[in-house]
Amino acid sequence: MTQMKPFLSDNAAPVHPKVWEAMRAADSADSPYDGDALSAELDERFTDLFGRECAGLWVATGTAANCLALATMCQPHGGVVCHEEAHIEVDEGGAPGFYLHGAKLMLCADGHGSEGAKLTPEGIAALIDPIRDDVHQVQPHAIAITQASEYGRSYSPDQIEALSAFARSRGLGLHMDGARFANAAAFLGGSAKDAAGPVDSLAFGFIKNGGMSAEAVVLFDPEQANLVKYRRKRGGHLQCKGRYLAAQILAMLEGDLWLANARHANAAAQDIASGCRDRLMHPVEANELFVRLSQAEREALRAQHFAFYDWGEDAARFVTAWDTRADDASALGKAIANL
Ligand SMILES: *Cc1c(COP(=O)(O)O)cnc(C)c1O
Repeated sequence: MTQMKPFLSDNAAPVHPKVWEAMRAADSADSPYDGDALSAELDERFTDLFGRECAGLWVATGTAANCLALATMCQPHGGVVCHEEAHIEVDEGGAPGFYLHGAKLMLCADGHGSEGAKLTPEGIAALIDPIRDDVHQVQPHAIAITQASEYGRSYSPDQIEALSAFARSRGLGLHMDGARFANAAAFLGGSAKDAAGPVDSLAFGFIKNGGMSAEAVVLFDPEQANLVKYRRKRGGHLQCKGRYLAAQILAMLEGDLWLANARHANAAAQDIASGCRDRLMHPVEANELFVRLSQAEREALRAQHFAFYDWGEDAARFVTAWDTRADDASALGKAIANL
């Protein structure tokens, strides 16, 4: 039987052996919830990684990580500015409204120098400047950006700096959805600090990049940790065997496994991209490719055992992961080039 060549999604990738090993090593009794020795290490490990004081808390999904972080900066009567195709808008089943008690998502479209689902200060200003300072209108409280974006684009340190300066000048919080933060950091040269810039909070994704069931909420104002802890419990995300989640995150941080895994995935994506040429809908700056392909072309690729999702009528999305076989990536690049 011919083996499938999987490019459906990085969340379909398996758990990295070092993460399994770390969970095995955590397999003795310790205090429940987040009272264990491993959970206690997280603040320090993230503080070392980002070079500024922060708190790190585990949760089981990126959705919870985003929403709990946003709860530190947006009141129920306020709004969170995000791109109209942001995960929090189109892929979280209304969780932001649930965790933020009805707060509104305020949607930016591309334009004003924005592309590939990345926000710009100009685009946000165009959305929020017409809002009157009047109780009849929802006031923005926060901005949420995605690193790498929903189209696999990475924000440069300058772009994050500009968004942060804009947010500060308007009194808004700045949150980063980092489901693919590792891939963006790898693309930008490998520094977690540069890839996050001066944001107020980060949902640091590990699951797509080799973890099993742990994402981190990183709060650059550690004073907010208590609020997130109470809400994490209330929201049903305080797992009683938290040490197994902490173990996954620590394993991913150990020796920069998070970065090595992302570099592998990004390299595979670049290999595929080299066969796509002008079919590419967006520059490849992480581990996702959006490729113009007709239905017949997609069928031809599926007949060669490549697995991927359609993207609308005339395109496909390919995602690489930490375990993508180099042979599969180069075969896909060649197959697309040969269409
Ligand atoms: C995958 C993903 C998440 C997290 O999704 P969950 O299924 O809740 O873990 C968040 N943001 C983006 C952009 C994603 O791609």
